[in-house]
Amino acid sequence: MTQKPVLRPTVPTSAARPLVSPIQPAVVYTTETPDALDALYEGQATGFTYSREGHPNASSLAKMIDNMEDARNGIVVSSGMAAVVIAVLTAAKAGDHVLGGNQLYGRSLRMMNEELPRLGMETSLFDPTDLAALEQAIRPNTRVILVEVVSNPTLRVADMEGIIALAKSRGIKVIVDNTFTTPRAYQPLTAGADFVVHSVTKLLAGHSDALLGYVAAADAEDAERLYVIATTWGFTACPWSCWTAERGMLTFDLRFAQAQRSAAAIAEALKDSGTIERVIYPGDPSHPDHNRARTLLGEHAGNMVSFQLKGNSREVSNAFAQAAAPLAFAPTLGDVATTISHPASSSHRALTVEARQTLGMGETFFRVSVGVEPTDMLIETLVSAAKTATQA
Ligand SMILES: *Cc1c(COP(=O)(O)O)cnc(C)c1O
Repeated sequence: MTQKPVLRPTVPTSAARPLVSPIQPAVVYTTETPDALDALYEGQATGFTYSREGHPNASSLAKMIDNMEDARNGIVVSSGMAAVVIAVLTAAKAGDHVLGGNQLYGRSLRMMNEELPRLGMETSLFDPTDLAALEQAIRPNTRVILVEVVSNPTLRVADMEGIIALAKSRGIKVIVDNTFTTPRAYQPLTAGADFVVHSVTKLLAGHSDALLGYVAAADAEDAERLYVIATTWGFTACPWSCWTAERGMLTFDLRFAQAQRSAAAIAEALKDSGTIERVIYPGDPSHPDHNRARTLLGEHAGNMVSFQLKGNSREVSNAFAQAAAPLAFAPTLGDVATTISHPASSSHRALTVEARQTLGMGETFFRVSVGVEPTDMLIETLVSAAKTATQA
């Protein structure tokens, strides 16, 4: 009996194209001749050579986000943090000063405080709601400002117009982490920023099953450097995750609209429940940055609601998380379903009680990332959990 060898399959050709992106896990691509490979490397032919340098699933997802952000040549990378790091490494080098908002995402803060100094960069933080503080913080070697439009978890709204105008007048670049706001509420490049960054993991992909980031630059040279850094440092996105995110993004607008409607209603209901020290929602007229939120974000006040329950103890916090089941107690945001997080035991656990208090976060401070469940069910669940917890 002759044994036939196992051969690689030939990909079948089809005169009709698939409606949905095929998942393409191939690491390497074959060409017929060295000339054909040369043409690819020289940019005379378009296509892929090796997946660290780019692959179809990352490219098609990047185009979807480019379209929403009105960006060109954005790239999809392995995580939101990869996107933040690539943008900073593009804009600054050893000896430069990097300024960051003082309520950045936890890992971004660690990058500012620990990692960038190790690479020889100076870093410091400023309050992005206070333009005078920014003016004071700028140094002769300040090259770039990293800022989030809406801060986590206290939902303060940055003075984006002021920051971008001041940065421009001093020749400083601005990187905007647009994860919380999404391109529907704010478009950083249109507003004059130099870079836009997303944790695609959160609202855009929306199902807590794909870890991905996106970064784009306004300037063509910066865009080229983003790509070189991403591929050289190996921040490549996983094709399966890109495919999952692509499917999630098709329902992004529906999810975000429903979640924002519910978030506004939840903020109202909690305020009237008698269980709360304070509720924070940028769409609420009592929010300290309400007017700025309206000007900057329009109707898109977001899907995040933060609040502090009465009775400042861990017992109250534990009781609330338990009573709010089936809503998941999980330290993330932007999932299709509602998730509840508790900064004192997760994102802000490294801070002292006093440091958290300075940021306005007591022990019973919670942040809710509102999902697509029926609004009535969410109000009923959260208000009754707050009552149970604060009466116990
Ligand atoms: C989650 C998050 C990140 C990091 O994204 P990952 O995809 O988890 O790496 C960065 N910025 C903000 C605002 C985030 O919420």
